[in-house]
Amino acid sequence: MSGTMRAAVLRQPGRDNANPLTVEDRLVPKPGFGEVLLRVEACGVCRTDLHITMGELKPLRDEVIPGHQIVGRVAALGDGVAEFPTPGERVGVSWMGGVDGTCLLCRKGKENLCDYPVFTGYTVNGGYAEYAVARADFCAPLPEEPKPEELAPLLCAGIIGFRSLRVAGVEHGDRVGLFGFGSSAHLAIEVLKAWSCEVYVATRGESHRKMARELGATWVGDALDRPPEQLDCAVTFAPSGDVVMAALASLRKGGAVAINAIHLDRMPQFDYDSLLWGERQLRSVANMTREDARDFLKVAQEIGIRPKTTLFALEEVNAALNAVYKETIDGAAVVLC
Ligand SMILES: [Zn+2]
Ligand SMILES: [Zn+2]
Repeated sequence: MSGTMRAAVLRQPGRDNANPLTVEDRLVPKPGFGEVLLRVEACGVCRTDLHITMGELKPLRDEVIPGHQIVGRVAALGDGVAEFPTPGERVGVSWMGGVDGTCLLCRKGKENLCDYPVFTGYTVNGGYAEYAVARADFCAPLPEEPKPEELAPLLCAGIIGFRSLRVAGVEHGDRVGLFGFGSSAHLAIEVLKAWSCEVYVATRGESHRKMARELGATWVGDALDRPPEQLDCAVTFAPSGDVVMAALASLRKGGAVAINAIHLDRMPQFDYDSLLWGERQLRSVANMTREDARDFLKVAQEIGIRPKTTLFALEEVNAALNAVYKETIDGAAVVLC
């Protein structure tokens, strides 16, 4: 594979830049040892992309191609790729683009917390481009039938939402709170319904509340409203400490809140005796493991999750980021490459 490709490049992260990505011609990259070259079909837009383009996650390179929910087909194999994936195969690449496999946390089976991680679209180039390189052992097999845009949102929003349910300790039939109702929560509610859970959704924005009702929420309220029942566990998706407090205040004894946010505005001071005592837990959710990816993609296929999406062309990638920032679309934004 040689020649050039279109790619969206970030050079100057910052809050004031409405068009942080420049779509331009780049050389098609070559896969190194253990890597594959993918022809990108679609790449989903995630809130983490905003933290990167706005500089809330500190830039680690002079320039980077963001995008970490990649659906692609294998266009070329690097040396050392033996059985999987094969040329032409459809695979997914998510935020975790690689780990060292040798640090203490990797050895403890917590590769999501690896000391030397590779993050797709942040520490290495990602999927807002016609081609992308990925580690073969961090590619997940994907089914052939769905459209690429129906798979892309599963790869970060979906997997991390699923991991959040695990971190919150959700059991079948539980009363579960979802605080915030963006693309991750849209997918989590489908898993919860399949697990016969009662789902309580607190979110700002009437369109998000309407969507939650349509997707089968038992109760729907505003962002800081208290659900009518005590919850077994909850996941917060909004990057807001006040929302975390609202979730904590709605828990029964022994319940847990999982915070699905890579960045929070602040953490308010709170009353231990009424909010955390009683073995309530507050946990963050960091990244994902390959096991989370495999397990979620299997569940998603079994229950036939087809996320609601809004599509953008690669040349419109800045508009896609702005739409996620301003929450002007329901469901997930996906860039077709
Ligand atoms: Zn993401
Ligand atoms: Zn490690």
